Amino acid sequence: MGRRRRNHPQVPATQPSRSGTPFVTTAPAKRRDAFRDYAAEARPSVKELYRLNHAGQTLDFVRAKKAQYLPPRTCRMSVWEALDALSQIVDDSDPDTDLPQLEHALQTAEALRRDGQPRWLILTGLIHDLGKVLCLFGEPQWAVVGDTFPVGCAFSDAIVFPELFAANPDAQHPTYRTRLGIYHEGCGLDQVHLSWGHDEYLAQVVQPYLPAEAIYVIRYHSFYAAHRAGAYTWLMNDRDRAFMKWVRRFNPYDLYSKSAARPDPIALRPFYDALIAELLPPVLQW
Ligand code: FE
Ligand code: FE
Repeated sequence: MGRRRRNHPQVPATQPSRSGTPFVTTAPAKRRDAFRDYAAEARPSVKELYRLNHAGQTLDFVRAKKAQYLPPRTCRMSVWEALDALSQIVDDSDPDTDLPQLEHALQTAEALRRDGQPRWLILTGLIHDLGKVLCLFGEPQWAVVGDTFPVGCAFSDAIVFPELFAANPDAQHPTYRTRLGIYHEGCGLDQVHLSWGHDEYLAQVVQPYLPAEAIYVIRYHSFYAAHRAGAYTWLMNDRDRAFMKWVRRFNPYDLYSKSAARPDPIALRPFYDALIAELLPPVLQW
């Protein structure tokens, strides 16, 4: 589970696109209100993933995964090795794309670059989903991808498919089912366990190297209940209120750059080699 390859053509491997630009467009652009449409259930894998995710992401599960993977000590890889590994993964939780993750990484980064966003944020776009290499370490997708949410306190109705939390044992726990659970008012998201997945894992892999804003974007980019729906404000402190604006700035690039316009990794590589060398070491500890 977790590793899949769909039947679509692979990234052009040897030559840039005929148009001479780094993108090959094969479909019309999608309207913004057509993204994250879970009701449409265009891909049955999406709800099935959340069924497993919402039942299995308990506080105990999250603590066990943190003990297993943090601090990162599984292997050593460069950013490009991780990006190449991601080309084997299609995210089952995502209703908006079935292109491999390498293309999503480049689409996100290129959209940030086109808008003249800071270089650290362009790099953040390139790497933000690299934590999905957890799938290649044998983790099922429900424990790697999808929206994240706090555990150890009540599950918000603002989370996607909230009814599926009925199958989570923590929903019956006398403490964990309360609004604050094991936390206290305004404690700061730093003190809160989010459901386990690629966000927290990658944040810890790159924590020593990138600015705090980049780490914050990586750590909370899937926390839609907070950055989109405005839930869980009672767990946030002043730092969260200041930093969440970066997550909101980043999110449209992550979400709306998803399209069938296929980036050409060969043409783009020199720019990203220089950017990676500027901000990260040649090899990272995963
Ligand atoms: Fe992500
Ligand atoms: Fe993403």
